[in-house]
Amino acid sequence: MAWEALAVDYFSGRISELIEQLQVLPGIGTKTAQRLAFHIISMPEEKVKRLSETMLETRKNVRYCSECYTLTDGEKCPICSSPKRNHRMIMVVETPRDLAAYEKTGKYEGVYHVLHGAISPMLGIGPGDIRLKELMVRLEADVDEVIIATNSTLEGETTAMYISRLIKPTGIKVTRIANGVPVGGDLENVDEVTLLRALEGRTIL
Ligand code: ZN
Repeated sequence: MAWEALAVDYFSGRISELIEQLQVLPGIGTKTAQRLAFHIISMPEEKVKRLSETMLETRKNVRYCSECYTLTDGEKCPICSSPKRNHRMIMVVETPRDLAAYEKTGKYEGVYHVLHGAISPMLGIGPGDIRLKELMVRLEADVDEVIIATNSTLEGETTAMYISRLIKPTGIKVTRIANGVPVGGDLENVDEVTLLRALEGRTIL
């Protein structure tokens, strides 16, 4: 047994429980969980209360934007509500984290559509399992361009192909971000310069 697994047993039941609970979070192993647990214990009670309440309230109140399906706490997200954004340009991404990655560049003026996944025949995820129907409904309004920014994984490429075939008959311009994004790389891990290059170098499908 690894020493990390043993170490948990040295602490009292409550501390062990906290360490265990923290490990349900992605990227948090035993060592990090222990460090966080002891930090939490040393924090003023009021701060711990605010942290736990914020987690609970966020979880309870966050929902999907009625337009782009990103996560938000209102009916529409701040991007869809903004008159400063170009609502005739829609960038299709797989997850809200991908949206956040493009927003960080500060250079994209259009709006988004979050699919919440990608088509994967291997995992049994079909077009009906992602927010594709909702995208097609949005395209009934005036739209100049759909930028497909799904990941450059097999699933992302399959999804891009599928969407482009679906949209083409409507006459709306469909583009795909350039290959600047490393194959297999999640968009959120790509730096802003690379993302901007991928966006500027997009090609018509
Ligand atoms: Zn939105």
